[in-house]
Amino acid sequence: MRLLLIGAPGAGKGTQAELLAKRFGIAHISSGDLLRQHVREQTSLGQTIKSYVDHGDLVPDAVVLDMLRKPVVAAAEAGGYVLDGFPRTVAQAEAAFAVARTLGAEVQAAIQLDVPREELVRRLLSRGRGSDDTEEVIEHRLQVYLDNTVPLLEYYAGREWMFAVDGSQPPEAVHEEIVARLKKISALAGEAW
Ligand code: ADP
Repeated sequence: MRLLLIGAPGAGKGTQAELLAKRFGIAHISSGDLLRQHVREQTSLGQTIKSYVDHGDLVPDAVVLDMLRKPVVAAAEAGGYVLDGFPRTVAQAEAAFAVARTLGAEVQAAIQLDVPREELVRRLLSRGRGSDDTEEVIEHRLQVYLDNTVPLLEYYAGREWMFAVDGSQPPEAVHEEIVARLKKISALAGEAW
C-alpha cells in the first residue's frame, strides 16, 4: 500500500502515519523527521538545510527528492509506505510522480488532514519541539503551508484517490475514518492492496 498524508503543521500527520504504518505493516517515511535527523547528526546535508528547517522555510525540492528517493523505492519494493510531509509543493508532486511512474509504483491514496487554524496553533505551541516551534516560526510555517501546499491540494482535487478527513477528532477516530475511506477506494480500484 502506498499512501500520502497531507496537512498543515500540527494537523497530526505523524500520529496518523504511525497508526497506518502499524495497521498495514508499511514503512512510515517522514520527510521532516529525516531532515531533523540530518541536522542533529550534523551531516553535510544537515548543515545545508539547518537554516531552512529552523526558520520554517521549505528545504529546496531537489534536496528533499534526493534524500527520499532511496528509502521510498526500498519501501515500495518491501510492501509499501505512508509518506508524511512529502510532497509539499506541486513541483515535488510532479517530480515524484515521474519517478513513481517509471517504477510502476504510483501512489494509491492521498489523505488530507483538515484542522482549523486555531486548533493547529494550540497544538503546535503545546508541542514545543524546539527551534522550529516558536510562536513566530509557527506563524511562518502556517503561511508557507497556505502558499505552497494548499495549491498542491488544489492540484490533486477531484482525483478519485484523494480524500479529506476531519483531523480535529481524537486520533483513533481519525484513524478509523481513514481506514474506512481506504477500504472504499481500494474496492473501487478493484485491486488488492
Ligand atoms: P510540520 O508537519 O509540523 O510542518 P514536518 O516535520 O513535516 O513538520 O517538517 C518540518 C520542516 O522540515 C518544515 O518546516 C521544512 O523546513 C522541512 N520539510 C519537511 N518536509 C519537506 C518537504 N517535503 N519539502 C521541503 N521542506 C520540507
